[in-house]
Amino acid sequence: MNKYEEAVFCYAKKLQRKYKESKDPLRDYPATIVCAYLKKKYVVDESGKISPNMAIQLKRKLSTIGTIGKKTHCGNILGWCAEVNSSNKILMYRPYLCLSRVNFTTARRPRTMQKINTCDNCKRTF
Ligand SMILES: [Zn+2]
Repeated sequence: MNKYEEAVFCYAKKLQRKYKESKDPLRDYPATIVCAYLKKKYVVDESGKISPNMAIQLKRKLSTIGTIGKKTHCGNILGWCAEVNSSNKILMYRPYLCLSRVNFTTARRPRTMQKINTCDNCKRTF
């Protein structure tokens, strides 16, 4: 396991500790977590919330797919993926960095660590 995958497992462990007593894990847990990385810089984040400060190149690309914050044909809300949230924290300070330069680990469901396939929106974005 590389350090990026390790960071995903650590993040999941933290969530599992936090929600150990959860009566409604499906509601409490984020659906997906993933690690975005660019050499030494890496960020684990989760799906769900949308960042009010979105990197310009992310915003531009997502807008060519649909309306940010609205559900798309693949079933996901555009801009709410773990890939978007994690990469945003890298891209925000690097406005000239191409989206394709950001790498990702396998996305996982933090409750079970099941692997999650990259959705159509994210395949088109990165
Ligand atoms: Zn996605």
